[in-house]
Order: sequence, then structure tokens, then C-alpha cells
Amino acid sequence: MVSDMPQVIWHNLRQKPMLQRIFYVPFWECPYRCEDCCVDSWPGRPPKDLEAGEAMLFGLIAAQARLTGHAVALHIYGGEPLMRPRYLRDFMQRALGHAGVGKLYLYSTLRPRGIQSVVAKVPKGRLRIVVNPDTANDAVHARMAALDGIAEFYRNPTIFHTGRGRYGADGYQEAWFERLLPAALPGRSCFATASGMLINGPHRSVHLCCLPQSPVVGHFNQDPSNVFSAYRRKLETFHREVRARMRAEGHVHACQVCEQDSAYDSTHHGPLDEATVQWHPRPQAQS
Ligand code: SF4
Ligand code: SF4
Repeated sequence: MVSDMPQVIWHNLRQKPMLQRIFYVPFWECPYRCEDCCVDSWPGRPPKDLEAGEAMLFGLIAAQARLTGHAVALHIYGGEPLMRPRYLRDFMQRALGHAGVGKLYLYSTLRPRGIQSVVAKVPKGRLRIVVNPDTANDAVHARMAALDGIAEFYRNPTIFHTGRGRYGADGYQEAWFERLLPAALPGRSCFATASGMLINGPHRSVHLCCLPQSPVVGHFNQDPSNVFSAYRRKLETFHREVRARMRAEGHVHACQVCEQDSAYDSTHHGPLDEATVQWHPRPQAQS
């Protein structure tokens, strides 16, 4: 979030692994279609085995907490996690009961109902809810007010050219000012060392940073300790590879390298229901 951006930039400058957070996605489906969705979520039906990634997730949290001696901040996103509020509520209780887990961060539109029952048993101080400002309506503002200070809008100045926001998609080009942004800003250079692994439930894979387009460092059929070792090895070198590729291929934004290499596609578990699709246009760039 904006409040920890100076810390993220500092780590990004030194490219020293931060090892403070882990990202978890049980499903990618979302009823909305923001034009610049960095993970390219679509409306669809989430998989039945929502808990498929939990053994790997908790194994990796234990490994990271053992190494650092600190609790791990667990970031839950998708997709729209509130599409399955019962799973979300139960999962959050399991996570909070895990010795290696510190604070939870939930990324949501808050458009679907159900947030009150999800947070009812979560101690205040152990959860932040980060809300998509592009999809907010009056009901969302009212829900945020009722959440008594634990919800805030996503305000990071980060730009992701991945998913539907990828360079070249639908004629989209990077904005004129992006070449002028300092290289230390997450996105202008690889921010994997400041990010955290992504446990990607539907694809049964573990990734180098929070984005599903980033390199795969392991799969769910492996031992979490081996995956954690592979993650740390890749962290040591990948930012240098990306920098060289950016120079050679003329990319302005580091994640364009991963987007270009990735075979990532969001998973659909049923036919697309166009009636449920709600488009949200890309916000105009501020100059
Ligand atoms: S709300 Fe928008 S940005 Fe978020 S997952 Fe859905 S489509 Fe993507
Ligand atoms: S360059 Fe790749 S690994 Fe680095 S932050 Fe971007 S998507 Fe993640």
C-alpha cells in the first residue's frame, strides 16, 4: 500500500529480498472486467476445489517464517474473493490460526454482499481491506464506512503492463510520462524482491512475485521446502535478467518482459455469462 511504498522502493533499489509477504489466489474469476486488469480476470465459475493451494501456502509460510523469524503478511486476491464469501471466511479463520501468519490483506471490489460475515470473527488489527476504486459505487462507500477504518482504496502509483493492461493490447501504449519515472519505482524495474511469492490455486503453481505472469518456481506436487529454496535462488538473479532484456528489447516497464514470456491465461470454469459482465473503463492518466 501507499504507506509501505518508501520501504518497497528502498528494497527495490538494493534488490535485497524483503521476505515479508505471500500472496494467495484461490480463484481468478471476477464479475467485472476492468480494462486494465493486470491479471486478466473474467466472469466465470470458480473451481470446486478452492482449497487446492492451502497445503502449499501454509508450507511456504512456515518455511519463510522459520527463515526470517517474522510472521508473514498474507495477501488474498483474485478475481473477486467475495464471490465465495463462505470459503473466504473459513479460509481466513484457518490462516489466522496458523503460527506463521501475521496480518491479512484482502483485495476486493466490495461490490458483492457478505463482507460483514467474512470479517465478523477477525480481530481488529489483523485485517486490512484494499478496495478497487474503479468499481466503487454508493453501496461500496457505505460498506467501507461500516467497516470502521479497516478498508481503504487502492492508491499505489504502480503501473502494471500485464493482463489486459499489457503493452500492445487493443492498441494500448504506455503513457508519455512512464519513460520519465524513476527506475526504482516498482514496475519500472523488477520488484520481485519486495513483493512475495504467489500461490496460484487454479494453476497449481507458485510464482516469483505477486503476478501470475512471473516465472513459476514450483508446483503443488513438490515439497514446499524445495519450492522455497528454488524461489530464493531465482530471486538472486532474475532482476538482472529482466534489466538486460529491457535494454535489449526496448521495454519501458519490467513486467512487460514476463508478460511477453508467459503462457498465463486466466482460468474459466464454465461458459462466460455476458449478462454478468460489467465493464469498467481504464481511468484517464493524470498528467
Ligand atoms: S475488479 Fe477489475 S481489476 Fe479487480 S480482478 Fe476484477 S476485473 Fe480485475
Ligand atoms: S518483472 Fe516479472 S518477476 Fe519482476 S515484478 Fe514484474 S512480473 Fe514480477
